[in-house]
Order: sequence, then structure tokens, then C-alpha cells
Amino acid sequence: FVACFQEFKRVNGITATCEYCRNERIIKDVKRISSKDCCFCSDACKTLFCQELEGKWGKHCRSCAYCLSISKTLVTAPGDDGDIEFCSAACYSKHKMLLSHVSRGGGSHSAQPAVEGVSMTCRFLRSVYRPSRRS
Ligand SMILES: [Zn+2]
Ligand SMILES: [Zn+2]
Repeated sequence: FVACFQEFKRVNGITATCEYCRNERIIKDVKRISSKDCCFCSDACKTLFCQELEGKWGKHCRSCAYCLSISKTLVTAPGDDGDIEFCSAACYSKHKMLLSHVSRGGGSHSAQPAVEGVSMTCRFLRSVYRPSRRS
């Protein structure tokens, strides 16, 4: 995710409106929040935005273990180090499915979720920042 994003940023020097400070800046991070893609110009803006969400939403999914998004809905499942957070029951079942694939395949597919996450992010970045987008 980060590697892909850094590479994309380096090539394109993309700017967007920061979700927190509302300034048009070169964005540093993108987070999917409540199925909306939000751009942040700095880690500080992202952290502050998340703190605000905490105040607004209370207990929520801070980072879905499957799709990495932040969501008001929180589904938890017991994991090795405490509870694992998911944004929805759908992500939970997909995650569970992946895990069962991994254990059946002897761990050879363990890189699968990360790879999927990267390609999802790349597709999002391209779709948003391509100058060819017309309205
Ligand atoms: Zn900002
Ligand atoms: Zn999710």
C-alpha cells in the first residue's frame, strides 16, 4: 500500500484537498473512511481527523483488518493479539475465508491480502487522479 502510494506520488506529484485542514496540498496518505476515500496532507491531519471521529462516533472500526478502511460500524473477532477489527460482517467473512485458504495452502498464499490491498489502492489512485476524468 505505502510503496505503491509513494511510487504513484513520486511519478505524479498529486495534490488533493486534505480532508482535515481543507488545504489543497500534495497528499501524503489516503484512507477509506465510511466507504469514502479521504486524502490527508500529513500524518498530523490524519491523526487529528481520526481523533475527531473518535469523539463523534465513539467506538468504531479504526482500521478494518481486511479492507483497511475506517468505519462507524465495528465488527470484532477474537485474534491472536486481542480482538481484530472489521468494518462489516462481509469483511469479516472474507478475512476468515482467506485465513482458511492460507492454512490449507501451507502458508504459501499468506501475501495475498496485502497484494490485494495494494492493487485496490492503486486502482483508486489512478481513477481519481487521472487527468482524463471528466464530469
Ligand atoms: Zn491537512
Ligand atoms: Zn472492511
